[in-house]
Amino acid sequence: MTDSTAGRPAASRIVTCPHCGGDSVYAPSNAFRPFCSERCKHMDLGAWASENFRVASEAPPDDQPFGDARLQ
Ligand SMILES: [Zn+2]
Repeated sequence: MTDSTAGRPAASRIVTCPHCGGDSVYAPSNAFRPFCSERCKHMDLGAWASENFRVASEAPPDDQPFGDARLQ
């Protein structure tokens, strides 16, 4: 009998992935939260970064694991 899931405030909860709208586990085990996967995180980050880069790059993000595509 495992009845300990109810009444426990969110060690892991499900949120909506901002990129694909699917379920995403919002917990330390999900390194890509609030995204559901690495792919969604990178795609969203890529879109955001290129847009930001076009408008104004005041504060470049410093948590990109890969080199970005700054070829200038
Ligand atoms: Zn997703």
